[in-house]
Amino acid sequence: MSIMKAPENTPVWTDEDRCKACDICVSVCPAGVLAMRYEPHSVLGAMITVVHPESCIGCQECELACPDFAIFVADKKEYKFAKLTEQAKERQKKIVENNYMMLGA
Ligand code: SF4
Ligand code: SF4
Repeated sequence: MSIMKAPENTPVWTDEDRCKACDICVSVCPAGVLAMRYEPHSVLGAMITVVHPESCIGCQECELACPDFAIFVADKKEYKFAKLTEQAKERQKKIVENNYMMLGA
């Protein structure tokens, strides 16, 4: 379910006006798709970013977990999602270890 119109050919997208940079969606993603970027203009100094959309498996964990309805996942009928790979799992681990921030930033 999403309240924003789905952008074409996009597995997961965000509404930055609603994001409170709580990191929850990043913590629940199994595939290293999401991370926070430094954003000096936001209240908490960070902002949600879709860093690896091509790895999204469409599990919807992020959308279900977001307390602010700021992240949305495409319908399985409208987007062909990836399968979970070892590489994606490893990246997720590194993002968590990096305090949910983008790697290499
Ligand atoms: S749908 Fe699943 S894999 Fe895709 S960004 Fe959300 S939590 Fe990660
Ligand atoms: S769970 Fe929602 S509010 Fe929290 S960082 Fe993710 S998109 Fe932003």
